[in-house]
Amino acid sequence: MRAEPLVTNKPILVWFRRDLRIADHAALSAAVETGLPIVAAFVLDDQVAGPWRAGAASRWWLHHSIEALARDLAERGCPLVLRRGDTVDAIAGLVEETGAEAVYCSRAYEPWAAQLEHKMRDRLQRDGIELRRFAGALLHDPDRLKTQAGGPFKVYTPFWRAFRAQLDVGRPLKAPDDLRGPKKPPKSELLDAWALLPWKPDWASGIREIWTPGEDGARGRLKDFLTDGLGDYAKQRNRPDMEGTSRLSPHLAFGEISPRQCWYAAEAASARQAHSDAGCETYLKELAWREFSSHLLHHWPDLPEAPFRPEFKAFPWRRTTKALKAWQKGLTGYPIVDAGMRELWHTGWMHNRVRMIVASFLIKDLLLDWREGEAWFWDTLVDADLANNSASWQWVAGSGADAAPYFRIFNPVTQGETFDPDGVYVRRWVPELGKLSNTAIHAPWQAPAEALREANVVIGETYPAPIVDHSEARRAALAAFDGLKSGS
Ligand code: FAD
Repeated sequence: MRAEPLVTNKPILVWFRRDLRIADHAALSAAVETGLPIVAAFVLDDQVAGPWRAGAASRWWLHHSIEALARDLAERGCPLVLRRGDTVDAIAGLVEETGAEAVYCSRAYEPWAAQLEHKMRDRLQRDGIELRRFAGALLHDPDRLKTQAGGPFKVYTPFWRAFRAQLDVGRPLKAPDDLRGPKKPPKSELLDAWALLPWKPDWASGIREIWTPGEDGARGRLKDFLTDGLGDYAKQRNRPDMEGTSRLSPHLAFGEISPRQCWYAAEAASARQAHSDAGCETYLKELAWREFSSHLLHHWPDLPEAPFRPEFKAFPWRRTTKALKAWQKGLTGYPIVDAGMRELWHTGWMHNRVRMIVASFLIKDLLLDWREGEAWFWDTLVDADLANNSASWQWVAGSGADAAPYFRIFNPVTQGETFDPDGVYVRRWVPELGKLSNTAIHAPWQAPAEALREANVVIGETYPAPIVDHSEARRAALAAFDGLKSGS
């Protein structure tokens, strides 16, 4: 009698990270293909990221994103197991408990996350367990895309050309219809016990109003954007008074949608619709900025902490809590800056144009260290992303790899007039200025006394006087930057 081949029924452990989706998830699809049971797990590890542990707004998002993923997995037959503590210990423990024969995960590119993968691989290897890592967070492999000289890219335009030339975006993977969970799933911790949501006070009501974390929410936003936003994206993306951008950034940051899904769907929609390709091409270039930021962080892991250009280490930053607090609270006296900072506080998000304006204001008008702004964004943004945040702050500061020149100092009044010409955005977030005319709304301190009276605005009382004079601040910033160049 011939012996039956030995059929292993050991599960595959799929370790979820910032890839909280089931569609276009290469690790999950590969696990399904083995035909083995799947143990799906997520570990909350507050130590592993050091100072870059998830900020308060991200923790709110994470709670809801995990909830959505757990629901989607359970509907298909596979519970999500939650564990808290050291990630390597938790995953190794689950492997032991379940007898898993391999661990599959998506690759992540934050310096701490990449180190964690190496530690995980070494630990599992000792027990003869394989760690298989799959792509998905990025469209390119930062170790493979190289300049002609063989190094990493420092400048966006050549990066974009090389990236575009080499990119082959295949069709995204479908979400598996059914998942085979383990017969006896391991115990899971309760999500509520992680206390990721704000309690007293509950500051998240504005965030709750506009966001739907999870894969369904991401798909819905993408669909709306492709229908209503993509065609005019090139024209409207700089206008904070319009819904001209995708607002997919938090969904991308938590991996509820992959960049491949966005890229593929945008190209397909553009081919279907009769409008010009300009909107689509501009959108793809923004997705490529995301790739570029991760490329930089992968090759320069201290990007979040240290200026890329070493001469900036000597910059004489001011230290004033008063100015920092005014900026954080949206009380600088510059309406477009205050509108942006209040939008951020209320919704956990801010329009890209306004992010550049408020960042320039912090760095160049207030002469505060860009890392102060970076940290505030980290805590308050629902899309906080280590690569995008640090590369963007350094870009505005002028200290980055491919940075705006330091002498490019945004004038908050003309920026407001250009990109919010009817004051719609400022009126939404700074309602105390709501009755001012379009000509007065971006520089209320210059408005005639009568216009202020009629609009019930008392500068210094109902709305702050400007905390700095922009022209003087500009001169001081240029002098400080020039001093840096001459080494004085
Ligand atoms: P869309 O205009 O629809 O763009 C599509 C996608 O491309 C975005 O979802 C995003 O993933 C990516 N993208 C767009 N612009 C950029 C950019 N300049 N750099 C890198 N990727 C980009 N983005 C984050 O995701 N997380 C951050 O923590 C973050 N911090 C920032 C800090 C500063 C000071 C500045 C100036 C920008 C920052 N950005 C950050 C980049 C950008 O502002 C946001 O990605 C964008 O506003 C998200 O809105 P959206 O999804 O509607 O973008």
